[in-house]
Amino acid sequence: MPSTVALLGIALMSCVMSAAVLGSLLHADVRGVARWCAAYGLFSVGIGLVLAVARLPAWLGMAVGAGSFLLASFLILQGTREFFGRPKATRSEYAAVILVYVALLYLIDVRPDLDASAAVSSGYFAYVRVAVGWTVLRHRPVHRPKYSYYFLAIAAFAGSLLHVARSIAYGAGWAHQATLLDPSALNIGFLGLGILSFPFMSIGMVMLAHDRMAERMERLATVDELTGALMRRAFMERAETAVNAARASGTRLALAILDLDNFKAVNDRYGHAAGDCALVHFATTVSRSMRPGDLFGRLGGEEFAVLFPATGEVEALQLTNGLRLAIAAQPCGQTPYTFSAGVDEFGPGDRLARVLARADAALYTAKALGRDCVVMASSRGESDERVAQPG
Ligand code: GH3
Ligand code: MG
Ligand code: MG
Repeated sequence: MPSTVALLGIALMSCVMSAAVLGSLLHADVRGVARWCAAYGLFSVGIGLVLAVARLPAWLGMAVGAGSFLLASFLILQGTREFFGRPKATRSEYAAVILVYVALLYLIDVRPDLDASAAVSSGYFAYVRVAVGWTVLRHRPVHRPKYSYYFLAIAAFAGSLLHVARSIAYGAGWAHQATLLDPSALNIGFLGLGILSFPFMSIGMVMLAHDRMAERMERLATVDELTGALMRRAFMERAETAVNAARASGTRLALAILDLDNFKAVNDRYGHAAGDCALVHFATTVSRSMRPGDLFGRLGGEEFAVLFPATGEVEALQLTNGLRLAIAAQPCGQTPYTFSAGVDEFGPGDRLARVLARADAALYTAKALGRDCVVMASSRGESDERVAQPG
């Protein structure tokens, strides 16, 4: 049977490695990771002190060791909440850590009782793990893959079950430890399983940090930084998906291309920065006025597109004209601008590129008609284009 010292040696190495791996992610500046990394550093210190207890004054090793474990666990909870942008801890949780530490000091130095101190500390560790698992499940971002979040939550809940069992076993007097490193079968069992929970939890944390970094990269690749609209490639991909879905379900689908009018002149007159503000104003107004489910993308420069699912050409014309009126009603401060648009509806078997080309032709007509208007090109090749214009 492995000795408690050997098990603690393994735990020490595992915590040092976890701290090193989490440390390698510090540069990514993911919220919570610094606290998780510090926690594993402190676990290492705590385990080192427990191992050195024979060579140190007992109270020093145990008091500092117990303090390191408590603080490290608390840092894990704080780091998890920080990761999800939640308040790090409640007042009663701060008070509880201090109370538990005072109780442990009392049970270590004033009225030494190893069983009671194991019951108290494990009760606290169980709470922290439940709180970690609960935070992860409750605040898991629903649009992200679940795997890593469930992994950490399960690791936390399993660790908490272990600590509940340990707390009850020693608290109710069913088990007894004569020394801190008592090699009883139960102590070895708790230690062995407890040691497994360290790397499981840290692997879960690393997975969460990686998911956050992946989310950032995906956002950088899909969302235009200036306007928050989908970038051209992401818009096209999602639009293709919507086209296939509309074809499969037999629902209507319409598309509009919107282009800001005389934008070169706007830049020349008000400056490039004011032009940027106008683009942000445009994108914000469109995003606010769109229906949920409509798709908005920046095709390039000052040209945008909106895809209207479950919508016919006339309704799409009205919706696009509504966007034009919304911008006219709430203009962009010192940088007034207008836009023109071409609208078209998907016919049976129409591909995205074809509808984009027809909407673009309608946009060209809108520009020729004097701008600040919306033109609909009939998807069936009729020559009469319908127009929504001011006045
Ligand atoms: P039209 O009404 O025919 O569309 O005229 P226009 O001047 O808008 O069209 P043109 O294609 O000649 O010019 C587009 C201008 O949009 C030129 C470019 O400097 C400006 N532009 C494109 N992207 C940005 C951007 O991100 N910020 C700013 N400020 N201007 C941009
Ligand atoms: Mg333009
Ligand atoms: Mg343009």
